[in-house]
Amino acid sequence: MTKISMPTPLVEMDGDEMTRIIWKMIKDYLLEPYIELNTEYYDLSLVERDATDDNVTVQAAEAIKKYGVGVKCATITPNAQRVDEYDLKKMWKSPNGTLREILDGTVFRKPILVKGIFPSVRTWEAPITIARHAFGDLYNAQECVVEGEGSAELVITRKDGSTEKRLIAQFDERGGVVRGMFNTTKSIESFAASCFNYALDTKQDLWFASKDTISKLYHHRFKDIFEEIYIEKYRKRFEKEGIEYFYTLIDDAVARVIRSRGGFIWACMNYDGDVMSDMVATAYGSLAMMTSVLVSPDGLFEYEAAHGTVTRHYYRHLEGEETSTNCMATLFAWTGALAKRGEIDGNTELIEFAQRMEACAIKAIEQGIMTNDLYVLSEIENKQAVNTEEFIKQIKKAYEKMTGEVK
Ligand code: NAP
Ligand code: MG
Repeated sequence: MTKISMPTPLVEMDGDEMTRIIWKMIKDYLLEPYIELNTEYYDLSLVERDATDDNVTVQAAEAIKKYGVGVKCATITPNAQRVDEYDLKKMWKSPNGTLREILDGTVFRKPILVKGIFPSVRTWEAPITIARHAFGDLYNAQECVVEGEGSAELVITRKDGSTEKRLIAQFDERGGVVRGMFNTTKSIESFAASCFNYALDTKQDLWFASKDTISKLYHHRFKDIFEEIYIEKYRKRFEKEGIEYFYTLIDDAVARVIRSRGGFIWACMNYDGDVMSDMVATAYGSLAMMTSVLVSPDGLFEYEAAHGTVTRHYYRHLEGEETSTNCMATLFAWTGALAKRGEIDGNTELIEFAQRMEACAIKAIEQGIMTNDLYVLSEIENKQAVNTEEFIKQIKKAYEKMTGEVK
């Protein structure tokens, strides 16, 4: 049988440790036998980032701007220990941070659901996608511990030199703490646009929540920007698709999420997204089943797994031990990127390939073959835990059984 053609490349970003090993296995067993895999390759391993003074990360981001779609393997974000381990020139920034800075996007995280693994919240039948605004607020703030009596003020100095002042607090002799935080109109607007675009792209309702009743200017500004952009640019398209944009208070949103069936996008301010994404991920099961996509306001897509390089398994692998690392989120990053490539290019065969591969991977788990992380969660009978490579081979087997194609 001939391989599925792929005339336009997507941007492939290789990574580190255990996920780098899984990356190659996925390509060797599940992709290259069936498609004319066409990628522009960037090696984002820590060794290569160090050798290129991290230019390779910038080049990969520029390539995503050119081709519109990228897929990324997990990478090490160096800390002091990694600087020693890899004898690095410096403690390079997180590649995901660099990509996000250049592409200016929002990260959407969505769990892969399989039969036999039940969410801790019984009513959740469909995945809840969390969109976290990954800029500003608490995360780019200035803070002080105030020792003893004194006062704190908020001062805005405009370009023309005029000022505006607010008294924040008058501290008594015991002092206290104070924080100054901000966000920018540009960043909030691009967050909103990414959320509306992704909702249209995936045909799901979009929820956004903040505490605008208490934060009458700061949070209210977020609410207003979402509302303005929605009415001006998206309402008609939402109505046409039969999907809804819905704003509510964060406490009400939390209650509704727990009572919901799932199947929507929950846009969160930075801190809410940090906390809620961990809660939602844990409630659905394993980190290895969480996918992630960075969507830029002007429609660029970068797919990856939400987990890291699985260092603990990698060290065991280096010792010659067998590992049972789950490839699902990394495989779905590939299929997500391939399907998006197909969608942009009108390449139906590529879209259908991605859908078939996802269905076969899910089927393998539902028939009882899975890696250890899922073995401990799954409630199906006759389940069997297998190693990393064996699991990928099982997916291949399911694929060849479904298509009758043997390679
Ligand atoms: P991690 O790689 O996500 O792994 C944490 C633990 O979660 C693992 O030890 C494993 O638990 C479990 N796990 C995660 N993915 C799994 C999978 N696919 N299959 C089976 N189990 C899985 O997080 P980390 O150990 O904190 O970080 C390792 C490195 O990854 C760090 O250098 C960090 O900088 C980097 N990182 C990169 C990204 C990214 O590129 N997007 C994101 C996060 C972290 P058990 O050991 O209990 O089996
Ligand atoms: Mg968190």
